[in-house]
Amino acid sequence: MSSTRYRAGLAVLAAASLAFGISYFRAIGSKCSAQPAKRFERTVEAMDTFVTVSVSGVDEAAAAETMDAAFAEVERLEALLSRFEPDSDISMLNFASPGEAVKVSPATLAVLCEAARVSDLSDGAFDVTVGPLVALWREAGKSGALPADEDIDAAREKVSFKDVSLDAESNTVTSAREGLVVDLSAVAKGFVAERAAVVLIRRGITSGFVDAGGDVMFIGSNADGRPWRTGIEDPLKPGTVADTLYVRNRAVVTSGNYRRFCTIDGKRYSHIIDPRTGRPSQGPAGVTVIAPGGAAADAWATALSVLGKDGADAARRAGVEFLMYFVEDGEINRFESEGFAAFRKDGTNDQR
Ligand code: AMP
Ligand code: MG
Repeated sequence: MSSTRYRAGLAVLAAASLAFGISYFRAIGSKCSAQPAKRFERTVEAMDTFVTVSVSGVDEAAAAETMDAAFAEVERLEALLSRFEPDSDISMLNFASPGEAVKVSPATLAVLCEAARVSDLSDGAFDVTVGPLVALWREAGKSGALPADEDIDAAREKVSFKDVSLDAESNTVTSAREGLVVDLSAVAKGFVAERAAVVLIRRGITSGFVDAGGDVMFIGSNADGRPWRTGIEDPLKPGTVADTLYVRNRAVVTSGNYRRFCTIDGKRYSHIIDPRTGRPSQGPAGVTVIAPGGAAADAWATALSVLGKDGADAARRAGVEFLMYFVEDGEINRFESEGFAAFRKDGTNDQR
């Protein structure tokens, strides 16, 4: 598999979801108030997708300066976390020998700690070393033939985030096993959205959002003081909205099997792999997670795509709210966490 092909594939898919997300925010924003506060927005290609930063409540010069700072943070984090940049922290880790302690930046350690937490709580359903299985199934999708059981077993041998240890005192990461490859695709976009939002908040922004390819971190309320209103795409009718959510100061992230899949012998296979079986997840068609932070929301949307309804307890322990869509007999059946209903109401909840 060439990394260039992989990057191109991701960009196309992410662009499709971005187009939906942003046009929806815009449509709603213009409806909410007769005189909405001015909103400034900029979109840049980064992280194999498009990243949009939006701020309001400041003048044009201040908006430009804060957006510059947020995009500088996106660039900085991408340089640390990309597996395609030879000098990134993640490449250093992937090229290191087993047992070698690799010094990483605090941000890299933070995202790996979040990945470890979600791996533990999800009992290994979330595992950022799943790359060999992802590659095997991607090749299967291209060739149209299911992988052999022994190839699946061989790839599974190379998947084990438990064998990666993190030391927060020395800021080092050590892999105990030969051939482990860390790929943060399932958590990095949410993490970067969160960190870029923190940069905006530190510069005094109280209303805005950072959207990293559909993984959105909302700051405060929208320009009218109402909760941000955002739609979840209908897996049966992509481009239309199945549910509308109202959030303040929250990350909203969706993982969907319905947009990214491969077809072998007429059967659809998800791009999300269950590391425990080595096979694509058979779980929900879509999972939306709402959490205080983007990294957790992103990681849990992927983890719950593997765990399905069985993940409800783990999600509760992790403090995240979720909505799952199951497509059965041509209909959407919903399954959601107890606290999710609060985000369906406009303005009455007191999310801080
Ligand atoms: P997301 O879109 O955030 O759900 O991330 C999906 C991507 O994460 C996939 O395209 C794979 O590169 C990777 N991935 C697939 N399965 C898993 C898993 N079980 N745990 C962690 N990452 C995964
Ligand atoms: Mg994810």
